[in-house]
Amino acid sequence: MFKSYQVGTIYGIPFRLDVTFLVILPVFAGLIGAQIELVVPVFNSAFGTDIDPGPLTAGMWPWVLGLVAVLALFACVTLHELGHSAAALYYGYEVESITLWLLGGVAKPAEIPRNWVQEFWIAVAGPLVNLVIIVVCVAMLLVLPPVDVLVFLLLYLAVLNLLLAAFNMLPAFPLDGGRVLRALLARNRSYLQATRIAVAVGKGFALLLGLVGLLALDFILIAIAVFVYIAATSEARQMRFDAAFEGITVTDVMTPVRELETVDATLTQSEFLNRGLGNRHTGYPVLENAEFVGVVTRGDVQSSQKLQKTVATVMTPVDGLDTVGPSTPVMEAFRRLGQEDPRPVAVVDAQENLVGFITQTDLMRAFKIVHERQESHTPQEPSQSRKPPNRQRTPRSRACHHRPESSDSTGEKKLRPDRTRGDS
Ligand SMILES: [Zn+2]
Repeated sequence: MFKSYQVGTIYGIPFRLDVTFLVILPVFAGLIGAQIELVVPVFNSAFGTDIDPGPLTAGMWPWVLGLVAVLALFACVTLHELGHSAAALYYGYEVESITLWLLGGVAKPAEIPRNWVQEFWIAVAGPLVNLVIIVVCVAMLLVLPPVDVLVFLLLYLAVLNLLLAAFNMLPAFPLDGGRVLRALLARNRSYLQATRIAVAVGKGFALLLGLVGLLALDFILIAIAVFVYIAATSEARQMRFDAAFEGITVTDVMTPVRELETVDATLTQSEFLNRGLGNRHTGYPVLENAEFVGVVTRGDVQSSQKLQKTVATVMTPVDGLDTVGPSTPVMEAFRRLGQEDPRPVAVVDAQENLVGFITQTDLMRAFKIVHERQESHTPQEPSQSRKPPNRQRTPRSRACHHRPESSDSTGEKKLRPDRTRGDS
C-alpha cells in the first residue's frame, strides 16, 4: 500500500482510502462500463432475464453504470471488512483501521488472535457478509419492478459478491480461507506449526495463481499472486519473531530503577545538553525531591527554544507516560516505544511504583537473549491457549484482498484477493 488518507470513521474505526484506490476507481468504472455489452447476454442466458443491452450501452450510460457498479462494489468490500471488524470487536480486539486500496480492502486489527475459534469466526465473518449481500440483492430483484438498469446492477452485484466470497475463501494464506485453514490446523497443534503449514499452502496457491496469470497474461492475477506470496512470507516471519520472544518479559530486559541515570527537575536544559546527557541514553527519569515526576528526552530539549528553563518544563509528566507492568511480554513493551523520539516506557508495579525503564537499548538486550536461547536450544513454540487477547500485538494487517473485477478475452471476471503494516 502507498499513501492513504483518512476520510472518516465507521463505528470509531478510522476509514482510509489509499491513493491506489483513488487512481483505480475510474479505471474499473471504465472497464465495467465497456463490458456491459458482453455481460448482459451472459446474464440473460444464465438467469433467464430479458435485459435489453441497447439502452444500457447508449450515450453516457456505460460510464454511469460503471461508476455506480464500482462504488457499490467497494461498498460491499467495505461491508466485508466491517464483517471482520465486527467479529474482532466482539472478541475484544481493537481494529486499527479499514483501508480500501488497489486490490480491495484491508481491516487492520491491532493484534491477530491466537485462539482458533476466534480466528475462524473473524475470518469467515467477511465472506459471510458477501453471502448476506447476495440474499439482499436477490430479495430486491424479486420485490422491485423489473427495470433493466436495476436488474442489471443487482445481478452484477450478486455475482461479484459470490466471486468475492469464493475468492477470499481460497486457502491461500493470508486470504480469509488461509486464516480459516490455520485456525482449523491450530485446533490440535501450536500456532507456529499451523502457520507454517498454512503459509506453505498459501505459497503454493500463490505460485499457482502466478502461473495461471502468466499463461493468461493477466497482470492483475500476477500482482495478486506476488502479493499473497509476500504477505504469507511476512506473516510467517512475524510469527517466528513472536515465538522467539515468547516468555521474555519486561523484567528480563528492563533497566531497573537503581541503575537509571536520573536528572533533577531543577536542572536547566542547557546544563542537560552541556553534560552530554542526551548522548548516553534516550530518556531520563526526572526527580523532584527524590520523587519520580516525569521523563525528559534529548528530543524534548533539542526542540525547545528556551534552554535556560528547567528540564521539568519540557518533560513528559508521569501521568502522560506510557507504562507497562513488569510481567508484560517484552514485544508488547517494544511496540509501545516511539519510532522517531524513542521515549522510554516506564515500568510500574501493581502499587504504581516506578521499577524501571524499557528503552531501545533494552530491545537489543532482548535480541541477545533470544539469540543465546536459539544457540542453546530451539525456541519454544507459542501455545494458543496461553495468550489472553491483550497480549500479542501484531503490527500487521489482516489481508483480505478483494478487487473489483478485471476483464480478459473470455469476459470472465476474476477477483483479487492484507501488516503490510499492512501495513502493512
Ligand atoms: Zn476478508
